[in-house]
Amino acid sequence: MKQQKELMEQPCSECGGTLEKKSITQEFEREGIKIKLSGIKAWVCSGCGETYFQPGGADKVAKAANCLFELALRKTT
Ligand SMILES: [Zn+2]
Repeated sequence: MKQQKELMEQPCSECGGTLEKKSITQEFEREGIKIKLSGIKAWVCSGCGETYFQPGGADKVAKAANCLFELALRKTT
């Protein structure tokens, strides 16, 4: 079987472009500390680059970022 690109049925709500499933990297910054999360599966518009998470995906990413910030900002005594 031929490997097919995973495409979203609905087009991008911004520009009507095709949404393609990709691994993306997101950067977060808090109190001067930067963290990067990569390998996040999301739908990316091939037209304008708008990113769409699967349902609940954005919450999971935010949660993961919060955990990492907690670790990074923890005061060691
Ligand atoms: Zn678009």
